[in-house]
Amino acid sequence: MAEGLDLPQLHSLLRQLHGVQDELASGPRQIKIREKRIAAAEQLVVERSQELTQTRADADGKNLDLKTKEQDLHKLRGKLNAASTNREYEILQGQIEADTVAKSVLEDEIIEALERAELIQQEIAKAKEAVVQLNEQLKTFTADFEAKLPGLQSKKAELEKQLAEAEKPIPGNIKDHYQRIRVAHGADALACADTGSCSECYVNITTQNKVLLNSGNALLCPSCGRLLYVTGKR
Ligand SMILES: [Zn+2]
Repeated sequence: MAEGLDLPQLHSLLRQLHGVQDELASGPRQIKIREKRIAAAEQLVVERSQELTQTRADADGKNLDLKTKEQDLHKLRGKLNAASTNREYEILQGQIEADTVAKSVLEDEIIEALERAELIQQEIAKAKEAVVQLNEQLKTFTADFEAKLPGLQSKKAELEKQLAEAEKPIPGNIKDHYQRIRVAHGADALACADTGSCSECYVNITTQNKVLLNSGNALLCPSCGRLLYVTGKR
């Protein structure tokens, strides 16, 4: 029996330490995720703004075309009034009809472009609002995390100290193995055998091993290699 070895306590410390480590790691990870979301929202504003500029330029171009078309029509009507032959009159009237249709198509396209610009503008406003909100959320999250950080760090240091003490009585013959499974399985390096099987891999514990465990021996699970223990509670 390993003197002073309290495996349930060791397992509890390992779990607490990993909990604190997870919390410490999740902060910066969350911050990164949030920063990425902000960058994506900002990118959307840039893209939509470019789209808006292009749509407005299209509308402006079509407006110019419309003015030209109106001038052409004005000239054609003048020529129509001055037409000297029926043939000339018919040709001019045909051109006027064609230009009138073209003018109406342009007018529709301009309205369409302006409506699209309006829609894009609303989307930009929403995207900008999202950027503001996401930045606010990040600020709050970062401040909360930074406020928690010193507490988490001292808790981690304290747990590490307690853990080092709790690990001291681990028998030399399994110490190296314990270090390896701790690296491999973290807080699950230990497994409880109160139910008669390993809590990690569920392999049954032999009667002989149960006796050894009950008398406080450090035993490795023959199947998954975890350090087994019993608490005496069921
Ligand atoms: Zn096992």
